[in-house]
Amino acid sequence: MKKFEFRTVPCIIVEAGITDKLGPLLREHYPQTRLCLVTDRYLHQSGLLDKALASLRAAGWQTQVIDDVIADPPEHVVLEAAQLARKSGAEIIVGLGGGSSMDVAKLLSVLLGADQPLTEMYGIGNVRGRRLPLVQIPTTAGTGSEVTPVSIVTTGETTKSGVVSPTLYADMAILDARLTLGLPAKATAATGIDAMVHAIEAYTSRHLKNPISDMLAIQALKLLSDNLLRACDHGQDLAAREAMLLGAMLAGQAFANSPVAAVHALAYPIGGIFHVPHGLSNSLVLPHVLRFNASHAATLYAELAELVVPNCTGSNEAKADAFISHLERLTQATGLECKLREVGVKQTDLRRMAQEGMKQTRLLGNNPREVGEEDAYAIYAAAF
Ligand SMILES: [Zn+2]
Repeated sequence: MKKFEFRTVPCIIVEAGITDKLGPLLREHYPQTRLCLVTDRYLHQSGLLDKALASLRAAGWQTQVIDDVIADPPEHVVLEAAQLARKSGAEIIVGLGGGSSMDVAKLLSVLLGADQPLTEMYGIGNVRGRRLPLVQIPTTAGTGSEVTPVSIVTTGETTKSGVVSPTLYADMAILDARLTLGLPAKATAATGIDAMVHAIEAYTSRHLKNPISDMLAIQALKLLSDNLLRACDHGQDLAAREAMLLGAMLAGQAFANSPVAAVHALAYPIGGIFHVPHGLSNSLVLPHVLRFNASHAATLYAELAELVVPNCTGSNEAKADAFISHLERLTQATGLECKLREVGVKQTDLRRMAQEGMKQTRLLGNNPREVGEEDAYAIYAAAF
């Protein structure tokens, strides 16, 4: 067997409504008193967190809420949040929100736990020292950030940098599907498709694909593809929401160990330049990257097709083709934009996007087929 290593978060709690009892739950696990909760303003003001905050108070937690996390958090937001948390003497960090809140929580836990500047942490394996205890609670079923060792920061006008380190694996992930009931259909679709891409790209990742990530990716894709439309059309369906949240987490565990590839690489310029949400960016290029990859990944796509495409028969090539068409139809059925031109991209932007995409060498190296600038351009042209 090919050697491999697999890591994940040691404690995962799945229970609808559990965050109403967050105070006593954390009290069972931690003796500290000063807690910093990282979230976004919308969630904080929506009242969704009220019960969790009240239960923290009742259990004796001194809670500082940092709620100025925005999507694609810029570096200064992270540094200001760290300063606030340090000032209040935070002893434990809780991320509660979408991927951005959880990514900022990861960085706070290391910035407060060790004396290392953020600029020295960018890249793979550069975090030194320890971190504060870290608990992650997702409110979208998408990024899987609650179980990944990656944090993405916006470091320039259109550029992002990642901190990737095993130190960023949280101590605990709490999945409370009630927190996701109110997520609008479009955000449900975009984040859900992002999670599906995590599963697909983990399953076909070139170097680190392994039996555990395969098992997780398969289970994730099944849960996600079976429940995506139900969760979009019937947002209050708790069973569908739970399946999506679990699927997104399993996909997160898969790609944390068997990383994502060209769909994500080519999605980055769409998000970076045009500020299109991460999930939608992925969904826009998904079928076109998969068609490009099909000659090199037909067997793997055929295996996935058997899981999600009804009555899937024929050669591997035929099954792979059916898989890609199925995903395309699924995306269309969610009502998300399907063409780059619908999100503000112009034909004349495609060259620059292809050039930017080529910079994602860490991700492109995982793709089953090598991608050159002309290939990227052709993929964008097909998605236009
Ligand atoms: Zn993603």
